[in-house]
Amino acid sequence: QVPSRYVDGPCFWDDYDLLAKKHTPINLGQGAPDFLPSQHVLDALAQSITCKNGLVHQYTRSYGHPRLVHALAKLFGPMIKQTIDPYKDIAICAGAYGALHSSILAHVEKGDEVIIIEPSFDCYAVMVQAAGGTVRYVPLRLNQIKDDMSSNDWVLNSTELRNAFNHKTKAIILNTPHNPFGKVFSEKELMEIGNLCKKWNVLCISDEVYEWLAYEPKQHIKIASLPGMWERTITIGSAGKTFCITGWKIGWSIGPEHLIKNVQFELSFQPSSVHQEAVAIAVETEIERFDKPDCYFKTLRNELQTKKDHMLRFLKNAGMKPIIPDAGIFVVADWTPLETKIDSSSEKDFYKDFRFTKWFIKNVGILGIPISGFYSETNKKVGENFVRFCFVKKDEKLYMAEEALKKWA
Ligand code: PMP
Ligand code: GLN
Repeated sequence: QVPSRYVDGPCFWDDYDLLAKKHTPINLGQGAPDFLPSQHVLDALAQSITCKNGLVHQYTRSYGHPRLVHALAKLFGPMIKQTIDPYKDIAICAGAYGALHSSILAHVEKGDEVIIIEPSFDCYAVMVQAAGGTVRYVPLRLNQIKDDMSSNDWVLNSTELRNAFNHKTKAIILNTPHNPFGKVFSEKELMEIGNLCKKWNVLCISDEVYEWLAYEPKQHIKIASLPGMWERTITIGSAGKTFCITGWKIGWSIGPEHLIKNVQFELSFQPSSVHQEAVAIAVETEIERFDKPDCYFKTLRNELQTKKDHMLRFLKNAGMKPIIPDAGIFVVADWTPLETKIDSSSEKDFYKDFRFTKWFIKNVGILGIPISGFYSETNKKVGENFVRFCFVKKDEKLYMAEEALKKWA
């Protein structure tokens, strides 16, 4: 067998996808909407496809379709407090996934260390290792045990964070708003990370795919907008998460030219022109109505806030202890209060959240994602008590989940 460079084992997403197909549970797993995108996004795609000169059906500029990079520069410039050069400071990639991978490959080499805050979106470590780098994990820790835990209660320990930086550190990967907890890093937390980056001359790769989904009163802050951080930050974004079109796979890396010029577009030379044009049209629409109540960034957030509150209620009623997310599309819940009602001994997985979620699919008919999958080997024990459910789903699906839980409880 040809040895694999990927040292952290197989991808659990595929396992859960197969389980979803086999057992047809109410699928609250992968972070993808189960409803049609907004009509204005579908219209943008139709407009792009039927565009008179048909050029969008051919290759476009390798670093990003001109109309899209212009729209993104206009949208994000004021938020990052920089004049963004559409042709030098942006690389369009195959989803945020592609943007992360290209940015990591462009900057991380053998011998480099990269700090990852865990739990973390599992692909970060795989990508760092693929580039030849070594991961140093710093866990978020629960700062107090209380009945209504919130994502804000999960914090970095300053000493652990400080100790992770050294002369080999090339980059830190930040994810705010955070998957899976929905934590929105505060300005103070971002300043602490930023100051360490400046002290050790470290690159910050800031994954902000849930940037529009911080629930009031929380506000998402871009670390690139803080003093001295633009020069050392690559901000990652996703059209998939922004417009509920995860299948289009359009994402971006934004940063100063010296960080973006090496982002390896060869990795996906280049994402679909038709979809880039359509995303550009959709972004232009939001720029026009940015301060108005019908701006999609606001209407989607309002819609999701209701779904989130509904999910928090029904998970709590079923006996779980959800962590209230400040942002995003997931609720992570402590499922262990239900442990006595479950016999998952027939499942062979090593970690008990994997056994629990598989048992839950087969016996309750609901699919959630085990959180130890978001932790390194050292800290998987912390994750074992938790399961993640996605609420960017049709209301009827959420009601079905509520009913299934009531019936079982
Ligand atoms: N980063 C995070 C934190 C995510 O949750 C995801 C999954 N949507 C991605 C990146 C990948 O985004 P995309 O679907 O645009 O590749
Ligand atoms: N980001 C999405 C999630 O966390 C999709 C993950 C994936 O499919 N690899 O659910």
